[in-house]
Amino acid sequence: MKALYDLTPFTLLDFPDIPAAIFWFAGCNLRCLYCYNPDIVLGSAHIDEEKALSFLSKRRGLLEGVVLSGGEATLYSNLIPFCRSIKALGYKIKLDTNAMRPDIIIALLQENLLDYVALDYKAPSSEMLRICGGGSEIRFWESFHLLQNQSIQFEIRTTFHPDLLSEDKIITMADALKSEGYKRPFYVQIFRNEVPTLGNIASSERIADYPLLERYVTLRN
Ligand code: SF4
Repeated sequence: MKALYDLTPFTLLDFPDIPAAIFWFAGCNLRCLYCYNPDIVLGSAHIDEEKALSFLSKRRGLLEGVVLSGGEATLYSNLIPFCRSIKALGYKIKLDTNAMRPDIIIALLQENLLDYVALDYKAPSSEMLRICGGGSEIRFWESFHLLQNQSIQFEIRTTFHPDLLSEDKIITMADALKSEGYKRPFYVQIFRNEVPTLGNIASSERIADYPLLERYVTLRN
């Protein structure tokens, strides 16, 4: 079955503390203006599960984890059996997700198929349509509470482009997380990209220094 758009054979940056491969799943249920993976979001899968699993089989002992990224991995119809196969080879799994499929997240959690989750908190409800072309903050909170109620390691992250989302809105999001009992870092990636994006946006010309934000979130440049 065609599963992946692409495969990155090695990363030390994307799975905390372990060497990993990245599996890039095609397609997404959002259309974020700042998305720098338009080819993956609009493209289709052309790497078979069998080929991806064969790759992992040969890398045992060299890699320890697999990052499920995209696009949006939770849209892949065979994701749960695929994760079972990855686990059977002895790998840890990290899911990078836009949080819009809590039904899939709970199914993965119930089978202990996840070791780490990076959950996007895209924006407050009022901004989702404008920035992400759809989606729902309610679904984010559903996914958040599933993770918050488990012992699994996870992080919350968002992308910040000052022309799309104000610092005040980010602080409101940080406060909302805190009031829901979230004690881990809220990672905010400042958008600085000159590659094509879904919304054809460029980096902001505002000076990228946000001392107020740094009191509330963990900035990633
Ligand atoms: S940035 Fe948005 S559109 Fe791009 S893959 Fe992530 S959720 Fe999908």
